[in-house]
Amino acid sequence: MKEILPLFVFIDACGWEIIKDRPFAKALAPNRKRLTSVFGYSSACVPSILSGAWPVEHRNWCYFVYDPANSPFKSLRPLRWLPQRLTSRRIFRRWLSKFIKVQLNFRGYFDLYNIPFKYISLYDFTEKRNPLQPGGMNRGPNIFDHLEHRAIPYHVSSPNRSEKDNLDALANDIRNERIDFAFLYWPGLDGLMHSVGNQSAEIAAKLNLYERWLEQLLSVTGQHYAETRLHIFSDHGMANCDQLLDLKGKIDALPLIMAEDYAVVYDSTMARFWFFNDYARQQVTQCLNHVQEGRIVPDSELADLGALFADRYFGELIFLVNEGVLIVPSHMGERPIRGMHGYQPTEKQSHAVLCTNDTRIPDQISAIPDIYRLMIRDAEDAAARNSLANGSKPHATMSDQFHTQPGRYNPAVRA
Ligand SMILES: [Zn+2]
Repeated sequence: MKEILPLFVFIDACGWEIIKDRPFAKALAPNRKRLTSVFGYSSACVPSILSGAWPVEHRNWCYFVYDPANSPFKSLRPLRWLPQRLTSRRIFRRWLSKFIKVQLNFRGYFDLYNIPFKYISLYDFTEKRNPLQPGGMNRGPNIFDHLEHRAIPYHVSSPNRSEKDNLDALANDIRNERIDFAFLYWPGLDGLMHSVGNQSAEIAAKLNLYERWLEQLLSVTGQHYAETRLHIFSDHGMANCDQLLDLKGKIDALPLIMAEDYAVVYDSTMARFWFFNDYARQQVTQCLNHVQEGRIVPDSELADLGALFADRYFGELIFLVNEGVLIVPSHMGERPIRGMHGYQPTEKQSHAVLCTNDTRIPDQISAIPDIYRLMIRDAEDAAARNSLANGSKPHATMSDQFHTQPGRYNPAVRA
């Protein structure tokens, strides 16, 4: 029997608005708090949770960037001759994405989405490593680097396994009392709500299943650890997409040539532009200023959100739509989906959540990168207590866990 297990359960897209009026996990983790999310998609939020850093610091933000010199996709250009009715099909693209991922040795999540083969060799993909592993960040360390460095034994989910298989793998490590820290990742609710929206009855069913799994897991933990410090949390919420915006149609109608005058990535809620002449910059800016469904995000706001990149690596101009608007068609999808996230983090459905069985959540914990500090605190605590009970020399403790200003990017203390 070990003293304590810190158990961090990450439920993707389980936003504050999704669970605030539901009894989900209240008996297991009664202390709840709304957290501010990070501007971007899971490609930005997950690395921020795992590293305590903001996008400008870890440089994991949006998946695709204009970078022809470094594009790994040059070999795909001949595919532009294939008929579009084949190349725009999700099943074909999923199969091809898997093939490319192996060929290019990408370690994280990879999907070609809806990037046209005509332009694919203009782009680079920015998540070549797996953020759920040590060395997984584009810049700086994550929690797993820390655990390895401190020789604290841990368990982390693998994105290649199903949710249930990841649950079973963790239960095994708990039964063996092998670990002093656990990180369980469930992406299924996110996928579900992308297709059914945030009001469907299927959400309650999914949350009930998660609750049953958590009860089973805690009952196993209770037989092997005297205490379980449970944290259930998310990266963002989910908004219903009630309004569709054909932004590409508007930009294509301008007297400009893609790849000669400008380049663009159409994400689902953002369009990111690179300009090759002033005329293109002026034309696109003027056009975007007339689109009521969104706005150009000023640099001052990007800086506040920790997403202003000095080298403009992710785009020189960022256009963002209002909550509930979906850019379609986009480079993420040809057809509409019911739910999306990646809006301004202050929008209602953007907020994430933290639920714990700890007696209190420190006031300093207010945004999702702060979860990293809880993980460090609890991992250190568990390593010390478990090794002390075991009669071995305790790990040295960390002292400066809560020195930064909570809730927002603060370059003065985070640089
Ligand atoms: Zn998602």
